[in-house]
Amino acid sequence: MTDYVIAPAPRPAIPVAGGGLFPARRVYCIGRNYAAHAREMGGDPTRETPFFFLKPADALQYCAPGETVSHPYPPGTESYHHEIEMVVALKSGGRDIPVERALDCVYGYAVGLDMTRRDRQGEMKAKGLPWEIGKSADLSAPIGPIHPVAAVGHLAVGAISVSVDGAAKQAANLADMIWSVPEQIAILSRYYELEAGDLIYSGTPEGVGAVKRGQTMVGAIERLGEIRLAVV
Ligand code: MN
Repeated sequence: MTDYVIAPAPRPAIPVAGGGLFPARRVYCIGRNYAAHAREMGGDPTRETPFFFLKPADALQYCAPGETVSHPYPPGTESYHHEIEMVVALKSGGRDIPVERALDCVYGYAVGLDMTRRDRQGEMKAKGLPWEIGKSADLSAPIGPIHPVAAVGHLAVGAISVSVDGAAKQAANLADMIWSVPEQIAILSRYYELEAGDLIYSGTPEGVGAVKRGQTMVGAIERLGEIRLAVV
């Protein structure tokens, strides 16, 4: 029996709508998964193999329904962007999961934001460097409660939006994804052994933009409710 030499960090866990806690393992994110957003980022919205990146699980920031959560503006950016995304929560995983069985792995869905230091990400892209500084700021993965499939079903269609100080910024439909949720799971599982507790941020539609301290973001997805964050 070996004792920890420092206190182990608690495992991040996200409340489930209706009760219980979902223990988070990894946070995968898919890039450029909506055609109009791929174009606004200077990309080509084809069905070439999608790409993924990760955020640390302790970047998750839980946003309770009906509350305005204080979201700290991170250091090291003058262009901190909102990316509204549906988050997929896995209850099981594996390797080389076939598309037709991928939805069996899904526990539920949540509203999320992939907050991004766009200025740093752009510099790294231009230099061919990794994106971590752009994508992995502390608390850069706000998330609402997880809604179990048992309650809301699977989501392939539905409005997804974010507003800033009441003005609509991103407004699209989950049906506009280039790669569906089952396809995302199947492709990810070729590169990683997926496990229960993994979360997948499924990409953002067009209309990303910067927020400033003092502004309030409201992200919403049909059937999953909304999250509300005050940038401080
Ligand atoms: Mn994103």
